Amino acid sequence: MLLRFKSLYSLEYNLRQCGPIMNAPVLVLNANFEPLNVCNTRRAVCLIFSGKADLVMNGRGYIKTVTQSIPIPSVIRLEQMVHRPRMQVKLTRREVFRRDNYTCQYCGRRSNNLTVDHVVPKHLGGIHTWTNVVAACPSCNHRKGGRPLEESQMTLLKPPREPPASAHYLFGRHLEHNDEWEQFIQGW
Ligand SMILES: [Zn+2]
Repeated sequence: MLLRFKSLYSLEYNLRQCGPIMNAPVLVLNANFEPLNVCNTRRAVCLIFSGKADLVMNGRGYIKTVTQSIPIPSVIRLEQMVHRPRMQVKLTRREVFRRDNYTCQYCGRRSNNLTVDHVVPKHLGGIHTWTNVVAACPSCNHRKGGRPLEESQMTLLKPPREPPASAHYLFGRHLEHNDEWEQFIQGW
């Protein structure tokens, strides 16, 4: 259901009083319903009130202002189509661990205590790209040291690749706590 809010009265002030819920993630859809990104609730409410976005899904309760109750958004949709290049997964430690399923790519152990290993070490010209970084447990990382793979006599579970930039992969880490997003992410 698409709702529109018409009035904007001391919105910014009211939102500041609303506490941590204002930082909850909200899925932002493009005008064609393609998932675009994730913003926080405060920004989502401001986008709705400024007429730049519509509320697509709520269900998280209400923000009470002096004059009205505002549904807390979970999914919003931009009024205007935003054109931008195809999204890519940002190369961060967290995303490397997620791509590798929190598993050391040398010994195969799953762990919350992982490091990022450069397969071709940086000092040997290895670059910081998806195809040269893997999750490694501290002991495998230590064992490999600064050596290239062949010299270390260690093997990788699988060759590292850039993860798919599907919406399901991009927004997957939010789905555990926001499973109502699933229907908006499927197929993109
Ligand atoms: Zn290991």
